[in-house]
Amino acid sequence: MLDTLRRIVEEVSSAPNLDAALEMIVKRVKPAMGVEVCSVYLTDPIQKEHILMATEGLRSESVLMVRLLLDEGLVGLVASRAEPVNLSDAPSHPRYRYFPESGEEQFHGFLGVPIIHHRKVLGVVVVQQHAAEAFGEDNVTLLVTIAAQLAGAIAHADASGEIATLKLLKKTAGEDFRPLVGVPGAQGIGMGTAVVIYPMEDLDAIPDRLASDIDLELQLFQDSVEQVKNDIRRLSERLSEVLPSEDKALFDAYLMMLDGDSLIRATEDRIRDGAWGPSALRDTVREHVRVFTDMEDPYLRERADDVRDLGGRLLRYMQEDPMQVPHFSDGTVLVGEDITASMLADAPRDKLKGVISARGSRTSHAAILARALEIPAVMGVEDLPVGQMDGSPVIADGYSGRVYVSPSPTVRQEYERLARDEAQLSEELNELRELPSQTKDGTKIPLFANSGLLADITPITNSGAEGIGLYRTEYPFMIRQRFPGEDGQCATYRHILEQMAPRQVTMRTLDVGGDKALPYFPINEDNPFLGWRGIRITLDHPEIFLVQARAMLRSCAGLGNLNILLPMITNVWELDEALSLFRQAHEELLEEGEKVIMPPMGVMVEVPSAVYQAENLARRVDFLSIGTNDLTQYLLAVDRNNASVAELYDALHPAVLRAMLQVVEGAARAGKPVSICGELAGDPVATPLLIGMGLDSFSISVASLQRVKWVIRNFTLEQAQEILQHVLSMENPRAIRRYMVGILEDAGLGSLVRPGR
Ligand code: PEP
Ligand code: MG
Repeated sequence: MLDTLRRIVEEVSSAPNLDAALEMIVKRVKPAMGVEVCSVYLTDPIQKEHILMATEGLRSESVLMVRLLLDEGLVGLVASRAEPVNLSDAPSHPRYRYFPESGEEQFHGFLGVPIIHHRKVLGVVVVQQHAAEAFGEDNVTLLVTIAAQLAGAIAHADASGEIATLKLLKKTAGEDFRPLVGVPGAQGIGMGTAVVIYPMEDLDAIPDRLASDIDLELQLFQDSVEQVKNDIRRLSERLSEVLPSEDKALFDAYLMMLDGDSLIRATEDRIRDGAWGPSALRDTVREHVRVFTDMEDPYLRERADDVRDLGGRLLRYMQEDPMQVPHFSDGTVLVGEDITASMLADAPRDKLKGVISARGSRTSHAAILARALEIPAVMGVEDLPVGQMDGSPVIADGYSGRVYVSPSPTVRQEYERLARDEAQLSEELNELRELPSQTKDGTKIPLFANSGLLADITPITNSGAEGIGLYRTEYPFMIRQRFPGEDGQCATYRHILEQMAPRQVTMRTLDVGGDKALPYFPINEDNPFLGWRGIRITLDHPEIFLVQARAMLRSCAGLGNLNILLPMITNVWELDEALSLFRQAHEELLEEGEKVIMPPMGVMVEVPSAVYQAENLARRVDFLSIGTNDLTQYLLAVDRNNASVAELYDALHPAVLRAMLQVVEGAARAGKPVSICGELAGDPVATPLLIGMGLDSFSISVASLQRVKWVIRNFTLEQAQEILQHVLSMENPRAIRRYMVGILEDAGLGSLVRPGR
């Protein structure tokens, strides 16, 4: 049974769209459970009804015709209870609702199980039988298992086929498409054309695309086939002496597949029908895999892996062709399963209008980079139909986290209006650039900018920022093919320091690991955020750390505007070791005759242990900087990149606020200043609280700088302290956010917390 289950789930996951997925479910479940009917109802929250979407056993004409209100009928009962309902005689149940078009009256035994994804009822799967008997426990648990396994796949397929399905719903509803919902990654409205970015060599990640030149695509595919054949022949020869003949037969089987009709011919036919080579190959491989996985014979079933392997080999060659490099036209909205900071860094800035990623959240580094680049971004859109989006018009609403694929003219017009309002607000905010960042009663709160891009820092110098409060040095490392050397690093840092001088620049030492991978330094871990990252890596590799330390020290010679920040400090001894390496670098350079000084050193407080040892850490350095992005994830035990728990990730959690206060108090005892450089610093809703805590300065993305300044200029220090005191008595992050939104609305700053006005 486990096997059947696995196969059903696999098939559904690879279904090209929702309709096909649902058809597959009912077709497979009915014989697997030995029942007379299997049907799937999907819940449409907009129309507030459950709709029969697929059935095996009821009349096919009832599909889409049978619709029940949310609490109507037995299906409504299953959905509202969110648990299975198992009846021996459905027609005699008071909630039974009869639909003549279904032909359902002949069935008595009824079992309905809700399909739930992230607490949301997506629909109900129902099996029925003639016999007036309730279903046995085995069948109940099986259907519950199927529904649970399928929930994710349906949610995904729902989105993949959403457009097709919602068209059907729309016909009756006369409404616009339901938007997909993720989390806001970077404020703004991004409108344009989707360009799907996908990891190389992954067939499943290939998006649908049409061939721009069929003959060229065919040629490319045929060349790839020849290259793979050559590889396999070579491999077979090389291993002929060590492999037993039955294993060698595998290579012959591969060659047969590559010579044979089905795999190659079917792909060529798809290309001739207009599909782009990689997507034609993807569909052919999926089709073959399905045929093999359906086979009862375990030997033949395993051939599915061979087909997948061959598909991967062919794809690799096809992707070597320069034609496969994505084409970024003006108005590109980058779309992908997992858009990373380096994918974003690779795309041409001037063409980018937005970013939409199925994974990640507000504090993923891709979102942070998008904010730095002022590109609207929506992250964690779990059910994003990535495969079908390439070339479609899209809207990314970076305020609400909504995404519209092929939006209607009405939606488009509304967003164009919002974008105009937004541009006007930005203009008004720009007028603040020259004004000082101080509270109503004159307390200065210096605002610094977060950066980390090699590129132009003109936006920072134009923004009126006091300097750079967090320069993430990992980005220059990420866009290279190997570790940059001392001179290369020194030139990069010097360039920044010179442009900013005499303003201060705080550079953080390399903080890779977690979600920031270097392509040339792969780290494979089960729990990367709890693993080898930041200072842990650089202390283990003093040769890397010392090169960076020397480059940093040399880069500020004669300028004197550099501060250094150490990430991920969890132990006092780590700080001692890092400081000692910096001293070593300093002494070496002096011996070499360089005119270098030891810059002020600081520690990032981003791990709970550092909160409790804030005073001890502060005594050893010149300043502390609170990294709320990581501090929140470690205090709340919520992965900052995981969209499934994004709702739990909230830096306004009372525990995070109290931890920050504790850091400020610890630093004050040591007589050292504290800044904040996590994303919370750029959230206008948090500004009064941060001022009230007594933080000495903020470091934020340029896009948020004037917004935060506007808030600062609207409150006195005393008001901010009172707001903080009130908030510290609250227990619930959402209530805190609501309260703070109210405070900003009352102060006439509502446009900062909602799009448009
Ligand atoms: C933080 O953790 O708050 C921080 C500023 O560092 P990063 O986001 O680069 O991990
Ligand atoms: Mg961090």
